[in-house]
Amino acid sequence: MQQIFYTTATPEEYQRIGKNFPFPVPDSCPNPECLIKVPPQKHSFYERNIIDTNFCGRILIRRYYCKHCGKTISYLPSFCLPYFQYTVEIIIDGVFTPDKLSPATFYLLSQKRLVYTLLNSFYQILSAEAFFMAK
Ligand SMILES: [Zn+2]
Repeated sequence: MQQIFYTTATPEEYQRIGKNFPFPVPDSCPNPECLIKVPPQKHSFYERNIIDTNFCGRILIRRYYCKHCGKTISYLPSFCLPYFQYTVEIIIDGVFTPDKLSPATFYLLSQKRLVYTLLNSFYQILSAEAFFMAK
């Protein structure tokens, strides 16, 4: 499962700090079918792509494992959206102020069916309960 944690770090800062980033440390399992009051164990990292107005690269995602329910929990920084490479900021800019995007980013997005991708992503932001709850 994926949890989103709030951070003011930019994607560049987050990438630079890497494994030393102050990731949230859960004190209980967030799986609604478990919720055991035992801290899940650290369970390595995975890499994912992130595309922002000034950044395009790979970042580390902290994972935990609950040995009671067997679920793996990934902690995404708040500039990420689950399953999307684009940051929240770039999607909102792309929907409301596409002229703010750099030509390179605009070209990149246009290769990915710009309007469909941005609107679909924006609706996912609005409906992502986890996004609003994870503050
Ligand atoms: Zn659990």
